[in-house]
Formats: sequence, structure tokens, C-alpha cells
Amino acid sequence: MADLADREGYIWMDGELTPWRESRVHVLTHGLHYGTSVFEGERAYGGRIFKLTEHTERLRRSAELMSFPLPFDTATLERATQEVVRVNGIQDGYVRPIAWLGSEDIGLSAEGARVHVAIATWSWPAVFGQEAQTRGIRLRTTQWTRMVGTMLPVKAKTAGVYATGVLARRESAQAGFEDVLILDHQGFVAEASGANLFLVERGRLVTPIADTFLDGITRAVVIELARGLGLEVAEERITRARLREADEVFLTGTAYEVQPVREIDDRAYPVGAISRRLVAAYQALVRG
Ligand code: PMP
Repeated sequence: MADLADREGYIWMDGELTPWRESRVHVLTHGLHYGTSVFEGERAYGGRIFKLTEHTERLRRSAELMSFPLPFDTATLERATQEVVRVNGIQDGYVRPIAWLGSEDIGLSAEGARVHVAIATWSWPAVFGQEAQTRGIRLRTTQWTRMVGTMLPVKAKTAGVYATGVLARRESAQAGFEDVLILDHQGFVAEASGANLFLVERGRLVTPIADTFLDGITRAVVIELARGLGLEVAEERITRARLREADEVFLTGTAYEVQPVREIDDRAYPVGAISRRLVAAYQALVRG
């Protein structure tokens, strides 16, 4: 895989466009040591960033939940995001804003550390390859679980939470699976490593209650799309046994979009009519 640090282009960093290869941080950066950075994942379609305000506001909330308010307002960050997409010539691509405590103070309370913000973008057509939305992907259940809200703020998209996903994904990749099913601490179905989960049960959509994981922006968009198509949608606790009985399963996320699942452990699912309808409706919406 190509080194993401070695490219042409620009990254917006602390208020200005910096040449891509010079956008660096020091090894004693607080955020690198303690896993407290907050970030976003956005997608541009035809040069336009989908749900830019929702993502920028979630970045702000994440930083506040991690106790370091951002030094830029939402309008400034939105303009910066649009500028970085434009100067890098991105039409369809991924955008990664990130905020972190710097190297000015390595103590845990980091009272002397500055809050830094950067925004990068690159082209990233499909997480699991071009055909994945048609054929579906395979998940394996991991023994690592999502956190309880007393461990970290679950509404924050913060780096520490992602350690679970990294561990789980490295194990599942070795076993030949594309992603993981992550349960909560009580054994209920939570989500995948970077996307929320829905199941179809006798024509009705059910998705887990988002109290141990990120309540995705795409999750909300898909709930609205589904209701607009006349489908019933409910948020409920889902056991593994119930998931096994589901007619269809799919994932939702900014990067994943609507991603059908064709297997979890040894249980196969069809890429069914409702999943296919929502894949198409989501594509029509983001490109509309
Ligand atoms: N859960 C996790 C762990 C994620 O990383 C993401 C991607 N941001 C999601 C869910 C889906 O969130 P969204 O739809 O806002 O991209």
C-alpha cells in the first residue's frame, strides 16, 4: 500500500494549507500517546461534501466531550474543508478532519497543550472494492466488545474507541473476513468496526439502540430514507440469536455507504430486495 505521507497536494493545518509531505506532528504529541484525538470521516460526491455541517458539528461535540474545545468555529472549518477538497482536485473522495492535543504538554491533564486541527482528503472509491455492494461482505464476531458509557463518551468519535476496532479487524483479516460484528458488554449486537448495523425481519427494519456506540449520520439518513419508502424502522436490543434469524443484514456509514452483509460467522444471508433498494436510494441521494 502506498504511504499516505508521501503524496502531492495540500493538507489544511491550524488555519492554513500546508504542502502534503510537510504536514507532520512531533513524536511527543499528546494525542498520539493517550488516544484522545477526535476525528471525522466525510465523503465528497462530485466535489460536494455530503452532510458537511452534521460532520463538522459532530467534530466540535466530540472535542467538547473529550474536554478540549476547538479553536475554530464551524463556518471556518466548513470553508476549510471545501477548500481542501477543491485544491486537491477531489471529485469523489474521502475527507478526514482531525483535532488533537499537541506536544506543548505531555502530562495527562495537558493544560499547556494546544488544540490542533487538520483536514486531509484523498480519493477512496469503495471500502471493500467496487463489487462489494452487490455481492455483500463477510463478518466474523469478535470477542472484543464495545465500551460502556462510563468508560468513554460514546457519542464522541474519538481515537481510543478505535483500538477495539483495530484489534478486531486485524484478527478477522487474518481469518479471511472483511469486517467484524462487535457486541456490547451484555452480549447484544452493537455494530461493525466502522459502520452501524441494520437487519431486516419480515419486511421491517431493526437497528440496535445506539447507547454503546456511535450513532452514525448515515444511520439517521437511512432510517429517514427507509421510512420515506414506506418501511417500518425500529431501534431495539438485538440478540445474536435474533440476528441469526434475520432475513437480510446491512451496514451503514459514511465510508461504507449502505453495505450488504452476506455472511456472519457460518450463517449466510442473501443480498435481498430491501438491502438493494436502500443501496440504490442512498446512491441516488448522495449523488442527487
Ligand atoms: N460506527 C463507527 C465505529 C464508525 O467509525 C462509523 C463511521 N464514522 C460509524 C459507526 C458510522 O457513522 P457515520 O454514518 O456518521 O459515518
